[in-house]
Amino acid sequence: MSDMTRNVKAARECSVCVTLMGLVEKAAREYDRSAETDARVRLRRHALAAHGQELPLPW
Ligand SMILES: [Zn+2]
Repeated sequence: MSDMTRNVKAARECSVCVTLMGLVEKAAREYDRSAETDARVRLRRHALAAHGQELPLPW
């Protein structure tokens, strides 16, 4: 298993990551750039704080 695959799996199993990724996707769907940026920043901060790494996000 590659590091990237493992990291994505960890993110899918973390409820905070899942929630924040949902917010990013929702904002992107609604073309709400400020909400999208905000959600990405929160997701990035959470990933670093809770998982000690940047997430290899699929975008
Ligand atoms: Zn997480």
